[in-house]
Amino acid sequence: MRLEEGVSLSKLTTIGTGGAARAFARPATLAELEAALAWAAQRDVTVETVGLGSNLLAADGGVDALVLRLTGELAAVHVEGDLLRAGGGATNAVCLHHARAAGLGGFEFACAIPGTAGGGVRMNAGAYGTDWSEIVVRARVVTTAGGGWLSTDDLGLSYRHSDLPGNAVVAEVEYQLMPRPPEQIKATVGGLIAQRKATQPTNKRTFGSVFKNPDHELGAGRMLEACGLKGHTIGGAMISPMHANFIENAGGATTADALTLIAEARRRAREQFGVELEHEVRLLGAIAVT
Ligand SMILES: Cc1cc2nc3c(=O)[nH]c(=O)nc-3n(C[C@H](O)[C@H](O)[C@H](O)COP(=O)(O)OP(=O)(O)OC[C@H]3O[C@@H](n4cnc5c(N)ncnc54)[C@H](O)[C@@H]3O)c2cc1C
Repeated sequence: MRLEEGVSLSKLTTIGTGGAARAFARPATLAELEAALAWAAQRDVTVETVGLGSNLLAADGGVDALVLRLTGELAAVHVEGDLLRAGGGATNAVCLHHARAAGLGGFEFACAIPGTAGGGVRMNAGAYGTDWSEIVVRARVVTTAGGGWLSTDDLGLSYRHSDLPGNAVVAEVEYQLMPRPPEQIKATVGGLIAQRKATQPTNKRTFGSVFKNPDHELGAGRMLEACGLKGHTIGGAMISPMHANFIENAGGATTADALTLIAEARRRAREQFGVELEHEVRLLGAIAVT
């Protein structure tokens, strides 16, 4: 396994911003992953794993960490009976493809979530009233201190949250699915994707929902729309004119632009609704939401 230097996070995130990683590696086997973690432990270097970078904002000045992206065996998918076993780096699209081909349903809700199995566990990603906690049986989690299988309870999954420590790498995930005719899966997925395209900026560079939905009658998007923020732009970052809980890279955006926009949105929601919005997007490097 090769360690690369100077790899820009702007190429590893869907929003397309961020500076270089101190080191970058693409482990393809469990042994390579363990070797990468040992390299980091020996040098006291932080480890960060990225999936498709679809929920990430990385510091413009770079990230002082070993950044991993799982490939090869660690991104492979196998079906065994009603179980779908996915490497942590397997994309949701590939998992859904295998599930449908095997006539297994239950993963359709993830059709418009452009991430990986590992990112889904970390975020307890979800849509349409279902989330990862409902289909994950267990996940193989590896840290510099060793690894093992964790049950759904041990993963501590709740709304867009897991209890995984920061340096933990989800190397493999087992999903419990159920028999369903492929044509039924295809029809459901087609409907969900059409619904997405009608309501969210799916063809723009974004990092998905900026904020978690608050405990309020309005979701974050409707709240920010009511604050008049649709289309509000700072530098190259713009609150989506289509859905106010998305930030688009409208051209040349930096992470600093997006963070300034996030701060402005939080300020307006606090002033107008007395609500403290909590960001859903994950931050990499020495940056913070204010
Ligand atoms: C257009 C669009 C639509 C979206 N819609 C939804 C939606 O409906 N519902 C939803 O929940 N999310 C949605 N998202 C957000 C995002 O796709 C999900 O959070 C997804 O699960 C992130 O997966 P990822 O692999 O890209 O993770 P990344 O964005 O790369 O990383 C997210 C977090 O997971 C960690 N991580 C990634 N891989 C691993 C691993 N193998 N082991 C340990 N930690 C890991 C990262 O360190 C980071 O903390 C959307 C994003 C976009 C761009």
